[in-house]
Amino acid sequence: MIRPPTVDLEIVLGVAFFAESVFFKDAAAGLVVRQEGGLKAVKPEQYNEKTPLLAAYYSYWSDLPLDGHFQAWIIPHRGMAAWPTNDGCTLLIAGWPFAEFEERRGDIEGNYMSVVDLVPEFAERVRGAKREERFLGMAVPGYFRRPYGPGWALVGDAGYNKDFITAQGISDAFRDAEICVTALDEWLSGARPFDAAMADYQATRDAHVLPMYEFTAELASLEPPPPELASVLAAAAGNQEAMDGFARVNAGVTSPAEYFSEENVGRILAAAERG
Ligand SMILES: Cc1cc2nc3c(=O)[nH]c(=O)nc-3n(C[C@H](O)[C@H](O)[C@H](O)COP(=O)(O)OP(=O)(O)OC[C@H]3O[C@@H](n4cnc5c(N)ncnc54)[C@H](O)[C@@H]3O)c2cc1C
Repeated sequence: MIRPPTVDLEIVLGVAFFAESVFFKDAAAGLVVRQEGGLKAVKPEQYNEKTPLLAAYYSYWSDLPLDGHFQAWIIPHRGMAAWPTNDGCTLLIAGWPFAEFEERRGDIEGNYMSVVDLVPEFAERVRGAKREERFLGMAVPGYFRRPYGPGWALVGDAGYNKDFITAQGISDAFRDAEICVTALDEWLSGARPFDAAMADYQATRDAHVLPMYEFTAELASLEPPPPELASVLAAAAGNQEAMDGFARVNAGVTSPAEYFSEENVGRILAAAERG
């Protein structure tokens, strides 16, 4: 719980973008710090918008062991991934381009299994397994929002969102929260005006996430990689350092901007030429 000094402002961190209530605390997502006289809806400027790119459904399966491994299959215009989760179950997610969402939503199981069937040896195991839950589906639009205004601030998905395919949202939300509260601390301690501190929060966030935002959109389109990317990935195959680097990009440790920089790409291509 953050308790700012008494100011005639409402300060909301995280989730209360639509809220009209007074004090609340949300265990999953953050906290409201303080409000005076009710929380007004704010309408932040939205930019870099993208419509949903991927429609995906997942469920939990028993008797589908993966020996602790994460597995993913990227097939042009289809994608599938599976990983072990709690209670001995495996989460299996399958998806197709959002452009096909409407035509496929009437038969979720059939369309899900049609993706699974693209990998016959795995499909056989899935058909021998048991689905333990209903299907859950999702499609996420991409956006950046100006994350502050008079009396309010946004972190996490409320301020910036993208497709889930790169699984970055939780780390992003934590990082936003840290940068945001650092900016708020600068303001509340009198070091900087609110707008200056929060404009830096926005700029830092945007600079950090933009390369991953574009990389995520590229993956979520389920299109084959464009020729330049395909040639880098082909050159990276078998080069342990380059493959580890690409794994770090997908884990959100290394920025795609760094990995796909002219210098690093040149290094990868040169190593491939040398054999
Ligand atoms: C299918 C899918 C898979 C994903 N997989 C991953 C993954 O593997 N790794 C990863 O890092 N990220 C993943 N993400 C993204 C990640 O879930 C989100 O980025 C992250 O949860 C954002 O956290 P948040 O706190 O900003 O928002 P949320 O987790 O959405 O929390 C917002 C909370 O606010 C509450 N709320 C909203 N309005 C109000 C209100 N008016 N009053 C009170 N409470 C309110 C909501 O009920 C909710 O609990 C995935 C997303 C999806 C859709």
